[in-house]
Amino acid sequence: MKKQGILLIISGPSGSGKGTIVGQLCEKNDFALSISATTRKPREKEEHGVHYFFHTREEFEQMKERKELLEWAEFCGNYYGTPRKYVTEQLMQGKNVILEIEVQGALQVKKIYPEGVLVFMVPPNLEELGRRLTNRGTEDKETINMRLRRALEEMELVEEYDYLVINDTVEQAAEDILTIVDAEGMKCSRNKDIKKIFKGEM
Ligand code: 5GP
Repeated sequence: MKKQGILLIISGPSGSGKGTIVGQLCEKNDFALSISATTRKPREKEEHGVHYFFHTREEFEQMKERKELLEWAEFCGNYYGTPRKYVTEQLMQGKNVILEIEVQGALQVKKIYPEGVLVFMVPPNLEELGRRLTNRGTEDKETINMRLRRALEEMELVEEYDYLVINDTVEQAAEDILTIVDAEGMKCSRNKDIKKIFKGEM
């Protein structure tokens, strides 16, 4: 009997290092990473279908109307959303799936899929966040400031999340997330079939 996979939803301020950690997790472990749709312009080296599915606002609106998105949100002037089909298929096949999404979308997912595990990731402090955003060199100063303001707003919702991970080093943060997934997999609520298995009914 195949167990349904765990849906891991990782949020945290832009620049908190979520992308790096998620990349590391997917490289070294058997996670399926959901690729989001967005209306944001691709950054240098970003590829359609690899980092995001890049769409016009019109195309995005159509995806919304056709109910193809599990969740969607507007973030700093652009739309972002999770294509529903891939996530559902992977979970049904028993794969653990990672969504790397901002807070409004994460809370939408938790509402419709309460078994989802919400992880909030933060850098060690706000100065470090500013430094990471600046060093990344992908945004202008105005966008960086907007993202820093947004980071503080997002932090207000930390209590809605199940787990907090402080991203001091990539290795430790990735390790922390694996610990969370292990513990979640051992929850009794995810292992109800054990009764039937012991009775020989499965
Ligand atoms: P960025 O523009 O830096 O790639 O992403 C900006 C924010 O949008 C990040 O916090 C990222 O996690 C979030 N994001 C990326 N994809 C999605 C998505 O599909 N849905 C939602 N709600 N947020 C997303």
